[in-house]
Amino acid sequence: MPDCIFCKIVAGEVPSTKVYEDEEVLAFLNIAPREPQHTLVIPKEHYRWFYDMPDELSSKVFLVAKKIARELKEKTVSDFVQLSLVGKDVPHVHVHLVPRMLANAPEL
Ligand SMILES: [Zn+2]
Repeated sequence: MPDCIFCKIVAGEVPSTKVYEDEEVLAFLNIAPREPQHTLVIPKEHYRWFYDMPDELSSKVFLVAKKIARELKEKTVSDFVQLSLVGKDVPHVHVHLVPRMLANAPEL
């Protein structure tokens, strides 16, 4: 999608700090992090919402998110890693992974 910032990141037209990449999935650090190491996991192909993705692709995205969440838990001082999808800001499905402390984590 021409005007999509995440498609531009996939194409290398916009720089990003990549933490994971394979043929179908890319993960990179959020440029406006809520917490240090706030990571976004996206399918390389453009889909608006997570339920628009084919089953196999959504499974891959979540498996990568799970792997990265475990790594984030290991390398940050956090109680857990929050996973959330909103998609209001950028119209390209993306999974937020945010290391959090239980004491100050938002409810939703
Ligand atoms: Zn896109």
